[in-house]
Amino acid sequence: MTQGNGTRDRGVLADVPASGPGGHAVVVGGGLAGVTTALALADAGMRVTLLEGRPRLGGLAFSFQRGDLTVDNGQHVFLRCCTAYRWFLDRIGGAALAPVQERLDVPVVDLDRAEGNRLGRLRRDALPVPLHLGRSLAAYPHLSLAERASVGRAALALKGLDPADPALDGQDFGSWLAAHGQSARAVEALWDLVGVATLNAVAGDASLGLAAMVFKTGLLSDPGAADIGWARVPLGELHDRLARKALDSAGVRTEVRTRVTSVSVNENGGWSVQVPGETLEADAVVLAVPQREAHDLLPEGALDAPEDLLRIGTAPILNIHVVYDRKVLATPFLTALGTPVQWVFDRTEASGLKEGQYLALSQSTAQNEIDEPVAVLRERYLPELERLLPRTRGAEVKDFFVTRERAATFAPAPGVGRLRPGARTKAPGLYLAGAWTATGWPATMESAVRSGVGAAAAALGALGRSRGLLPDFFEEAA
Ligand SMILES: Cc1cc2nc3c(=O)[nH]c(=O)nc-3n(C[C@H](O)[C@H](O)[C@H](O)COP(=O)(O)OP(=O)(O)OC[C@H]3O[C@@H](n4cnc5c(N)ncnc54)[C@H](O)[C@@H]3O)c2cc1C
Repeated sequence: MTQGNGTRDRGVLADVPASGPGGHAVVVGGGLAGVTTALALADAGMRVTLLEGRPRLGGLAFSFQRGDLTVDNGQHVFLRCCTAYRWFLDRIGGAALAPVQERLDVPVVDLDRAEGNRLGRLRRDALPVPLHLGRSLAAYPHLSLAERASVGRAALALKGLDPADPALDGQDFGSWLAAHGQSARAVEALWDLVGVATLNAVAGDASLGLAAMVFKTGLLSDPGAADIGWARVPLGELHDRLARKALDSAGVRTEVRTRVTSVSVNENGGWSVQVPGETLEADAVVLAVPQREAHDLLPEGALDAPEDLLRIGTAPILNIHVVYDRKVLATPFLTALGTPVQWVFDRTEASGLKEGQYLALSQSTAQNEIDEPVAVLRERYLPELERLLPRTRGAEVKDFFVTRERAATFAPAPGVGRLRPGARTKAPGLYLAGAWTATGWPATMESAVRSGVGAAAAALGALGRSRGLLPDFFEEAA
C-alpha cells in the first residue's frame, strides 16, 4: 500500500538501484535522527531510502488514538536554544504548531508548607545574562535568602566550565553542586527541578559535563535560551504526518513496517541492506536506531569498541494521563515540590478533547514506578493531584491511564560521554545517528536532530558532495 507520494508499507519495496548520479543512501530508523538524516541527504541531491520498522515515523516521540483522544506517548518540550530541533520544525513546516513561550515562565508549587500550597515562579526578564534570571531568583520563595545567593554563585561557577572537557564527563553533578555550597533543598527545589526534566537523572546520577551543557546553554547563554516550546498538536502530526510530507516532497522513498535485519559490504565495495525478502544496495548507510540495535547491526570492525554501545544505559519516563470532567488547571503547565508529581501539562486542546480537561503528568527518573500497576499509580497520584490542584477535589475522573517508556533516554551517568560514538565508523560509507551518539547533548529531540545533520554531513563529505544546504548548527563528529 502506498501512502502519499513515496511512503509505502512493507511488501512493495521497489527495486532501488545502488548508484545514480547522486548516489543512493539508505537510512535505517525513522525517529527524528533518521528523518533528519534523510531530509538532509535528499536536500543535498542524494537519492534516499528511509526504512522504519514500525508502522509510523517519529520513533520515541509519537502519538496514538485512545477512543476520541489523541495521546502522546510522553509530553515533549524543547527550549528556544534547541536550534536544531527548531530548524527541523521549520523544515517540515511545523514551526507554527509548536511555538515557544514569549518569556520563560514556570509556575512551581510547593506542597510541603504548613500554611498551604505556595506558588513560586521561575521567570526571566529582558536583562542580559545572567541578570535575566536575577529578579526571579531573588524572589524565589522555595529557597532561603542564603540559598538564593549561593545558587547565584554556583551558576557563575558553572558558566566557567567547558562541557566538552572530558574530565567533567567522569564527575557527577551532585558532588559538584555540594562542593559549590548547594544545600539538599537547593538541589531539590532548583537544580533537580530543571535537571531531572532535561537529563532524566537526579544530580547525583548525572554527568557533570552533560549537566553543564544543559545549564550553560539553557540558562546562561542567551536571555531567551530557556523559553519553553511545546507542540500544540499531537506529536504524530509533526513527527509522522508532516515529516512524511516533507520526505515525500524531497523525493525520499520512505518504507514503514520495514525492519532491517543486516547490513553488510557487497562485492562492489558498496553496502547491502537486508530487509525480510529483499536486499537494497547503497553507497552510504546511516544507522539511526537505538544503541543496542546499532550494536546488533554493525558489521565487525566498524567500531574499535562496539561493546561500549551496550554499556550506555537507559532510563525510563512514565506519563500518567488523567481526564477530568471539568477544568482543574488554569496554566498550560506547572511543576511541583513536596509531592511525587513532577510536571503537569494541559493536553486538552492537542488531544482533541471536547469537554473537561486532560492532564498529563510527566514523571522522569521513573525507575521505581515504571512497572507499577495502573491501580497502584491511580491510588497514589489522584490524591496528590487533589493536594496540588484544589479544583480536582469535586471533579469526576473520566479516564486514567499510563504510558511507560522504559528506554526513554540514555542514562546520562558520569562516564557516558566516552561511550558515545561520533557519526563516522571505521567502515567507509557507514554512519551512526541517534540522540545517544556524541552530540554533547543529553537524550533529547535536539540531540537526535543534531546527530542526523552530523551523519548526513559526514556521508556527504566522504562522497565528495557539497553540504551547501545543511544548516550550520552541527558540529562535525570526530
Ligand atoms: C516519554 C518521553 C519523554 C521525552 N521527553 C522529551 C522532551 O521533553 N524533550 C526532548 O527533547 N526529548 C524528550 N524525549 C527524548 C526524545 O524523544 C528522544 O531523544 C528522540 O526522539 C530520539 O530520537 P532518535 O531518532 O535518536 O531515536 P528513536 O526515536 O529511538 O528512533 C529510532 C527508530 O529506529 C527504529 N528502528 C530500530 N531498529 C530498527 C531496524 N532494525 N530497522 C528499522 N527501523 C528500526 C525504531 O522503530 C525507531 O523508530 C522523551 C522521550 C520519551 C520516551
